[in-house]
Amino acid sequence: MATASAGSNSAASITSLRIQLAALTRLLHKEGILTYSGHASVRIPGRDAFMIQSINDSRAGLSPEGLVICDLDCKVIEGPAGYRPPLEAFIHSEVLRARRDIDCVVHTHSELAAMFTMLEGIELALMKSHAQRWASGIPTHADPTHIKSSQQGKDLARTLGKHNGALMRAHGGVLVAESLPALLVDAVHFEENAKAHYQAATIGKVKPLTREELDLIASVNNNREQHCFKLWSHYVGMGFDDGTLPKDWNEQIWGSVNPNAEAT
Ligand SMILES: [Zn+2]
Repeated sequence: MATASAGSNSAASITSLRIQLAALTRLLHKEGILTYSGHASVRIPGRDAFMIQSINDSRAGLSPEGLVICDLDCKVIEGPAGYRPPLEAFIHSEVLRARRDIDCVVHTHSELAAMFTMLEGIELALMKSHAQRWASGIPTHADPTHIKSSQQGKDLARTLGKHNGALMRAHGGVLVAESLPALLVDAVHFEENAKAHYQAATIGKVKPLTREELDLIASVNNNREQHCFKLWSHYVGMGFDDGTLPKDWNEQIWGSVNPNAEAT
């Protein structure tokens, strides 16, 4: 899969990013990973700017036209009059500033994942094979307050470091990926992994993946592009079927993803 930021900074690619971001938000809301809070963003190709939803728009029915484009100081560059980014937009600006290797960020408000920041002596373990994505670690950011300043955003980006995800104490999480379809896939797998840990712990002593097992998974799971296409197709298809997504988004929702790619 080409990344969401691949290609030119054309009106067509921006339109596609708008539709993908609105779709991802609606779909993650349906999965309970975003709630009345939480948000996702995507870097505008070739610019120190990013697209994010406005502060008051519902995640359930987010529209592409209501998204705003901000600079890395969270000032609105483009958007409907009076629209402004969420208070916690500094999560996105500072992670995107610090991590030039990724283009997409989601700040989740998953109750399940956040629970693992509230347990004495227990940390979220890597249980399911797709959790190999976080094999380098899932740090917990200690600041339990909302990230409402540039400095707080920088501190969170420092906690995240080079990892692909972090938890935020008594709050939620942050995940990063190369494209919006990949970000959706990561958000789904992160939630699945937290659920697996919780469910396994209700039965007995948990047995997380070992370093050797994680290395083995990494050595054979080498087609992330195809996997992301498969799951994007699955969730987008369900969204069209149940009315979560308007069917006239179909042309632009694939972006630079090849809808004819063979998935396994
Ligand atoms: Zn939050």
